[in-house]
Parts: sequence; C-alpha cells; structure tokens
Amino acid sequence: MTVAVRFAPSPTGLLHVGNVRTALVTWLFARRHGGTFLLRLDDTDTERSTADFAEAIEQDLSWLGLHWDRLARQSERADRYDAGIAALKAAGRLYPCYETPEELSLKRKVLLQQGKPPLYDRAALALTDADGTRLAAEGRRPHWRFLLEAEEIAWDDRVRGAVRFHGTDQSDPVVIREDGRPLYHLCSVIDDIDFGITDVVRGEDHVANTAAHVQMFEALGAKPPRFAHLPLIADREGKGLSKRLGSLSLRALREEPGIEPMALISLLARLGTADPIEPFGEITPLIAGFDFGRFARGTPKFDTAELARLNARILHALPFDAVRDRLCDLGLPVGPDGLDETFWLTVRPNLERLADIADWWRVATGPVTPVIAPENADYVAQALDRLPDAPWDRDTWSVWTGGLKQATGRKGKALFMPLRQALTGVGRGPELAPLLPLIGRDRAAARLAGQTA
Ligand code: GLU
Repeated sequence: MTVAVRFAPSPTGLLHVGNVRTALVTWLFARRHGGTFLLRLDDTDTERSTADFAEAIEQDLSWLGLHWDRLARQSERADRYDAGIAALKAAGRLYPCYETPEELSLKRKVLLQQGKPPLYDRAALALTDADGTRLAAEGRRPHWRFLLEAEEIAWDDRVRGAVRFHGTDQSDPVVIREDGRPLYHLCSVIDDIDFGITDVVRGEDHVANTAAHVQMFEALGAKPPRFAHLPLIADREGKGLSKRLGSLSLRALREEPGIEPMALISLLARLGTADPIEPFGEITPLIAGFDFGRFARGTPKFDTAELARLNARILHALPFDAVRDRLCDLGLPVGPDGLDETFWLTVRPNLERLADIADWWRVATGPVTPVIAPENADYVAQALDRLPDAPWDRDTWSVWTGGLKQATGRKGKALFMPLRQALTGVGRGPELAPLLPLIGRDRAAARLAGQTA
C-alpha cells in the first residue's frame, strides 16, 4: 500500500516549532516511502481561523522546502461531513444532547467532588423523541455526541508501541456543535478516510482522541490508519513549548535570530531520536535515514542555542550561489565590482546569521572608525609607514606583518591585534590575509592614520 500522510494545522495562528516538527517528520516519512503528503487546513473553527494564517502556513512550509502533493480545506468539505453524519446517525452512533455548558460543568464538579472521573453520564441517551420535541420547542438546540462502545481499543503505534484504551475511559466526544457545525474529531476521521490516509502522525496530546477516532473509523466502515504519536517538545528547562509559542514561531526564528531553513530541519529531524544532531546542507540524506524506530519516548528538549550553533555551521558551508539572491534582498551590492564570491568566502566563517554579512561589508568598504590604543599608537604608525604598495593580494598581509615582526620584535597577538583593531574597528573577525585586499590600500592607510574611512 502506498503511504499517504497528511499534516493538518489549524490556521488559527502561526506555525511554531512543535507543529513544524510534526510537519517535518510526517513529510520525511512520506518521502522515505515514496508516498504522498497532503496539507490539510483544519479551518472549521471559523471564528478563529483566518485566510492570513492559512497563507502564512503555506509560505512557512514552502520556505522550509516541505512541499505538498495536495491541499485540502475542511471548510470546503461540508457535504462530505454531512454524508458521514447521516451514516453515523443511521447507525445509531450519534445522539443529541441538550445540556448547557453550565449544566455540564456542574455535573463534572459533582463527580470530581465524589472522587470520580468527570465523564459525561449519557443522560441525553434517556431522552425520548417527545423530550426532544419539547426541548426544541423551548428553543434549545442539540449538540451531538459520538457513542463510544464499551470495548477495548488497541493499536500498534509507530512510536509508542502497543497502546490500549477502553471505550469507557472517556466521555462520548461532542462531534457536532449546537449551530450544526461538525467538529474536529469527525471532520478529521472523514477526511482521513476520503483521502486514503495510511498513517496519521501527530503529537502525543492526541493519543486519547485517537482512541475515539479508532471507533469512528470503524463506525464509518473504514479500517483505521496506522498511528505515530510523537512526544511533545519542551524547552531546555523542560517547560512545554506552548507557553512560549509566540517567541518560537517559525516566523520569529526566521526573522530574528535569522535561522536558515536547513538549521531548523537538521535539528527537528533528529530531535528526540537516537541519531546525533548534526548540520545538514540538504534534506535528501535525512529522507534516506528516516525511521520511526529511531524515535524515543522521552520529552525532547529544544535548545535555541543548539539551533544557533547549527545555523552558523550551515552558513559556513553555503556556496556563494546559494546566497547570492538573498544578499541582494538584504540590499547589498552583489556583483563583480561589489560583493562577490571572494568576499563571501572570506567572511562566511564569521557569520552566525546571514544578515551579519552587512557588518563585514561595512568593514571592507567603510566607514570604519579605527580603534588605536595609546600604547599601540607608535606601533600602528610604524605599520602605516611599512604598508606595502599596491597592487595587493592575499600575500600582502604576510609580507607586511613579516617585515613588522622583524622590525619591532612583536609577535602573535601583540603583532596583529593592534592592526586588526585599527583596520576593522573591532577585535575579532575574518582572517586578515584575505580581508586586507578587500579593504584596499587607501582605506587601510587612512584607518591606520586614525581616520574614519
Ligand atoms: N488540527 C489538529 C491540530 O492541529 C490536527 C490534529 C491531527 O493531526 O489530527 O492539532
């Protein structure tokens, strides 16, 4: 059977690290098995879903390179849900309930006070047709619950192994709201059947839902798909990510600190698995190595410092062609007389994020205010005197500093740090041998003379 999976975000917010991981793992599994990946927008919650969030989700997945074979919107599938509802009603698996939220909350409180699990008591099952007519006449509109059968529910989870529930463990789920709109559970199961989904991959916060869904698949005459429930990610302190959703949205990571897509992918593909987290420049090897068997049950910790380290390592390996357009977008003068491959290769090892390159471009082309400590003033003046004539190349630095070493007896840091500070205005940065010709003789001379240039 060909693998068919779906990623089903609700467009009620931006994608965050947690659901990006679900998307990635689902996508890798599909690609590993030559399957199809459906992007399903769970937009039945019309009050909270927006077209802007849907658009942002599509943009974010594209930015990550997680392309989908097919797109579906729950809001466009009302007729399919109507058909499923009719089938379930005919099978006696849906029943109308008239309790108000206040009444339900009171029932729960009473049960909790008695030390009992706060399960719905199915009082509505006892209502006769006449009761229904009377309640409707009072202006009450029913919500509908799915009747769970009191039997064992078991599946072999791709991550959690054997999972067992019982139909009496939870309340009959509400699947249709008072206003007639079907809710997530039912829509999701009907979609999974219609789209021939073979494997449902999602967070372990859905495990109990899955137990109810298994019965819904069966009630609709379908074989349930296989399930894989991933442990939810926590931050480094072990707190659930949901508390910091905003700061860990994909958008936020992309804009500030300027994370590369492959850094996020490298981290999230391996997080919580038995494989080491390492930088990948492309996704292909991650597809080839994908295996649910490598996933552990424990809570993986998402560490933004680790992400930043991966980001730097990925940048340091990017060829000029891969960044050329993005450098243009950053407003830098890319071209043979401007920022070229030589410049990129010179400063690339010093970047933590791509946008940092603007700082080094300014160091090369000015203006830079030199830093010359009083105790180094004579040395820097001497260095200016001995500055080699143009044209300059990669050897100019060693010729220049070789002579200075002999003349002054300085070596190591004492030899080059005052020059670096005078030439670049800062104490660290790209190697000076390739940087010096990029700064050029006139600017270098001016800076060594203490002028901003
Ligand atoms: N829209 C649901 C969510 O974001 C989908 C869960 C599922 O994969 O079934 O939690």
